[in-house]
Amino acid sequence: MDFRLGEKELALKEEIRKFAEAELPPDLARNTLIDGEYRDFEFEISMSRKLAQRGWLVMSWPEEYGGRGASLREQTVYEMEIAYWDIPGAWMGISGTQWVGPCLMMFGTEEQREKYLPLIASGEKDGIWCTGYSEPNAGSDFANLQTRAVRDGDDYIINGQKVWTSAAHRARWCWLAVRTDPNVAKKHQGISIFIVDMKSPGVTVNPILNYYGRHHFNEVFFDNVRVPVSNLVGEENKGWYYLMQSLAFERRSLAPTIYGGFKRVLEELVKYAGQTEHEGQPLSQNPVIRAKLADLAIDLEVLKMFAFQIAWRISQGQIPVYESSRNKIMSDEVMKRVAITGAELLGIYSQVDPDSEWAKLNGTIQGAYLGFPGQAIAAGTAEIEKSIIAQFRLGLPKSY
Ligand SMILES: Cc1cc2nc3c(=O)[nH]c(=O)nc-3n(C[C@H](O)[C@H](O)[C@H](O)COP(=O)(O)OP(=O)(O)OC[C@H]3O[C@@H](n4cnc5c(N)ncnc54)[C@H](O)[C@@H]3O)c2cc1C
Repeated sequence: MDFRLGEKELALKEEIRKFAEAELPPDLARNTLIDGEYRDFEFEISMSRKLAQRGWLVMSWPEEYGGRGASLREQTVYEMEIAYWDIPGAWMGISGTQWVGPCLMMFGTEEQREKYLPLIASGEKDGIWCTGYSEPNAGSDFANLQTRAVRDGDDYIINGQKVWTSAAHRARWCWLAVRTDPNVAKKHQGISIFIVDMKSPGVTVNPILNYYGRHHFNEVFFDNVRVPVSNLVGEENKGWYYLMQSLAFERRSLAPTIYGGFKRVLEELVKYAGQTEHEGQPLSQNPVIRAKLADLAIDLEVLKMFAFQIAWRISQGQIPVYESSRNKIMSDEVMKRVAITGAELLGIYSQVDPDSEWAKLNGTIQGAYLGFPGQAIAAGTAEIEKSIIAQFRLGLPKSY
């Protein structure tokens, strides 16, 4: 494959740069790196609407569903640039744009595609989804999920609890994994996926503040929630297969975003090192600091290549198996390494809030430092991703 960008992709980069310059207020806080959510939700929606109007939000989707039929490679470039410029509105609806939509194209009914895909592509509030997988006793051991759906005439009745549900307080829809058959030989059997309207009677969303006090995720309770049979995705009890595909889509989407966002942070760190003196000489003259920054630049290049390589494999009609997990681990590592090196360079300044007059680099190092442990857990912990690589790339026996 050719890693160089073509004319179309270079033009897209330029278009996004101009969009960022025209649309972003100069004093906009850069806090996507902290919790994936800006403080001004209405502003974020107004931006996602603008991204949608340009056909960028779901650019690789077919035109009939609100995309512009772009290649996944172009979409990867878009994701990198949007993250580089830290444009609000691109990530609020990621459940919908990155995995629900693509899964509905693969496994949904025509009716589901016609109803939900244009909503997601619109960038409006009614197109926001959350993802209901984890439960108090089902995280890494996801197949242990206990939330139950029982058929009752033309409906299913859902009871149970989900936890750590990102953006459930914003979402109109939930991509929900439930147990439809408890009497199965292996626990990954008997699982189904439902589309649940978060406004349904019996759905309760309670906020959970993360360890630095921000509201990013929630616990969600389902108390006799009626969901029409038409909201079942694919076949009953075949959900595990769809979920693995959905998780692969989710893990793929991380590398371009982390690459774009942290490429900019690295550029800012390099500038900071050139402008900041320690013991009479710029930090950039210090060989240890130079080596650390160079290591980060190499890590970022590797991540970029991983991001393009997976897009290329998919465009060749191949199904990546271990690559999504590889990219997820590398994304987590890049975020962690930039955060740690950034904190070493900034010293005490890395600990102040982005709003503080003492904040350096718009508080992005503090954000990365606070955010990287959660990043390494969301969408599958490093241990689980490594197990997938061990099994599907190295051919080692299944460990769990
Ligand atoms: C920022 C963030 C956002 C999230 N958003 C969502 C969301 O929107 N929707 C949703 O459903 N969930 C979400 N989650 C939950 C996330 O998917 C789970 O936290 C994750 O799968 C781990 O599950 P757990 O927390 O139960 O930890 P556990 O599974 O209990 O793991 C605890 C530790 O044990 C290790 N471990 C467990 N099993 C094994 C094994 N077999 N081999 C080796 N080590 C093992 C793990 O790696 C981990 O270090 C989010 C989490 C975070 C941090």
